[in-house]
Amino acid sequence: MMFHGKKYYIIIIIVSALLITYLHYWTTPKNHILHNIQTELHYIPLLLGAVVFGLRGAVLTFIFITLLYLPYFITSWSDPFLSVINRVLHILLSGLISSLAGFLVDRERKQRRQSEKDRYLADIGRVATTIVHDLKNPLITIMGFARRIKEGKGNTDQAVEAIIESAGNMQRMVFDVLDFSKPIRLTLGEEDIGEIINRACDSCKTRAEGEKVALSVDLPDKPLKLLIDGFHMERAIVNLINNAIDASREGGEVKISAVYDKDALIIRIKDHGTGMDKETLEKIFIPFYTTKRVGTGLGMSIVKKIIEGHQGTIRINSQPGAGTEAVIELPYELSADKP
Ligand code: ADP
Ligand code: MG
Repeated sequence: MMFHGKKYYIIIIIVSALLITYLHYWTTPKNHILHNIQTELHYIPLLLGAVVFGLRGAVLTFIFITLLYLPYFITSWSDPFLSVINRVLHILLSGLISSLAGFLVDRERKQRRQSEKDRYLADIGRVATTIVHDLKNPLITIMGFARRIKEGKGNTDQAVEAIIESAGNMQRMVFDVLDFSKPIRLTLGEEDIGEIINRACDSCKTRAEGEKVALSVDLPDKPLKLLIDGFHMERAIVNLINNAIDASREGGEVKISAVYDKDALIIRIKDHGTGMDKETLEKIFIPFYTTKRVGTGLGMSIVKKIIEGHQGTIRINSQPGAGTEAVIELPYELSADKP
């Protein structure tokens, strides 16, 4: 509960304690039944203090009420002994009960906090286990092929290819985790989006060739100048191209295009691969969500973070079996050279 809300509880506790004590003084000589009933009303601020503020709240409310009662005790000290004892016991009992309630409330809250912490640690543990497990597979492949090269067995070129591919998988995972774990700090500079797209394609070329997927780039003749963080924008596009390659079938094509539109610069990454069902499409930006055997599920959340860091938007159009298109819109305000 926020402190803002708690302030009102403090006011309610003080006002009700004052009101009930006032009633107590007021009814003393007149009506004994009413007097006894409203004595029990003191449990209201006491239990409220316990429920909202735990043991500390219960004890403080108890002290406050006891202080309010002090004049009454002093003036009625000459009453019969049993009557005084009865009052003292009554007030001590109410203090004991509200303290017990406060103690139980505190204990329950502590247990809840602990179980939330346990769940958080379990989540981190699960994620760490998944990533380590995913890194293990390419590592085993690399070890296996490196040993075969050393022993002079099999085709060396194929072994080297397999090693490069597995190391590439590991690299992508490590980059994903690093990009995800630290906050993205953008350093804006005047960049040509066309150049960034070409660089992104270059770094995905070997992988695309390995998967027998063609990469094609469609750009206008004029440079597409924008004020952006070139390094991070390239990482975002690389992530999207990698996803498109993963989804494509052998012989498929991934097309990357960029164009100045009415209000924004639009980048499209389109594949004719597996596409996504509704569930995947809904969960695509959730960190660690992946449908791949080897995947961190971090790529799309990194992409979103980068694009939104540039005040841009990303939209995914996808049809199961037909393919996917990622559409990035970057506002003109980023443009260093508006068309
Ligand atoms: P990862 O690639 O590690 O699985 P991402 O966050 O990059 O993690 O993607 C999350 C999921 O979104 C993928 O596992 C995949 O199911 C789906 N996805 C992303 N891009 C595409 C695409 N172009 N075609 C089909 N599915 C995709
Ligand atoms: Mg990915």
